[in-house]
Amino acid sequence: MSRFNSEINWQSVIDEIAEEVQPLLSEGKVADYIPELGKVEGSQFGIAVHLINGDKFETGSANEKFSVQSISKVFSLTKAFSILKDDLWKRVGKEPSGNPFNSLVQLEHENGKPRNPFINAGAVVIADCVVTNTDNSLPEMINFIRELSGNKTIKMNDAVFQSEKQFGHRNAALAHFMKSYGNIDSDVDEVLDFYFGHCSLSMNCNDIARAFLFLANHGVHPINNRKYLTPSQAKRINSLLLTCGTYDAAGDFAFRVGMPGKSGVGGGIAAIIPGLLSMCVWSPGLDKYGNSLAGVKALELFTTKTGISIF
Ligand code: GLN
Repeated sequence: MSRFNSEINWQSVIDEIAEEVQPLLSEGKVADYIPELGKVEGSQFGIAVHLINGDKFETGSANEKFSVQSISKVFSLTKAFSILKDDLWKRVGKEPSGNPFNSLVQLEHENGKPRNPFINAGAVVIADCVVTNTDNSLPEMINFIRELSGNKTIKMNDAVFQSEKQFGHRNAALAHFMKSYGNIDSDVDEVLDFYFGHCSLSMNCNDIARAFLFLANHGVHPINNRKYLTPSQAKRINSLLLTCGTYDAAGDFAFRVGMPGKSGVGGGIAAIIPGLLSMCVWSPGLDKYGNSLAGVKALELFTTKTGISIF
């Protein structure tokens, strides 16, 4: 894969992509089931690409903050996996769900054990693992994300947090249902506050691209040199990103893009190529699966134009 790296003009690739996705920017629909997210202007677009050698490239609104939403599930999973190691998989599965991210239907058949850590039910179990095993869980999680992104100013958007909490009935239903199966140890409200808290963080494409670099570098962050995961754990998270990171569109995403990636309903998508780079695209207009419509296209164009993917 690195054969062609030195020949790639990353800046012109992402500038071309930003041009080519323009007609799509009005096609997606901004998430409004969290009313505060519905206020965002849908036609914005940005990309940041961070290579593990320290080079960085950006285009469009790469420094505009947006709601990270489910992208943050990767950070909480990293924390939970490093605490519980392989015992984590007793609580949550590793299979694609084939169902929407907030679906309730599989949980009863599967006795309260969510299919994977990236659907909401799975991320709520992960939240419980972190809350149950750490003190000051949310401030610690925010510090962890600040450290990964190298940006100490990252914080929650309180209006988004309140909006998620107020309208989070599905997530509350999932959490209580799993509690009835014994798969939530801590108090449900405490777990949900942690989950809504990390989802409501505001970050920009550069913050997220930099924060994901450790997954592109076998668990060690190439800029701060800290080891967050073993190479095997980093491999496992990347595998889950490929198979489950974009929910019931993960097959289509792998087919079109060929990179492990994680989307959020704020319109961001983080994606990596192990050994080479981490990137984030953002455009708030979503497709019917809850993934950024122009963002998925931008990543598809990225792997097509560069000829680089994980395959
Ligand atoms: N906080 C959002 C929710 O719980 C996250 C969903 C997402 O980004 N897909 O519904």
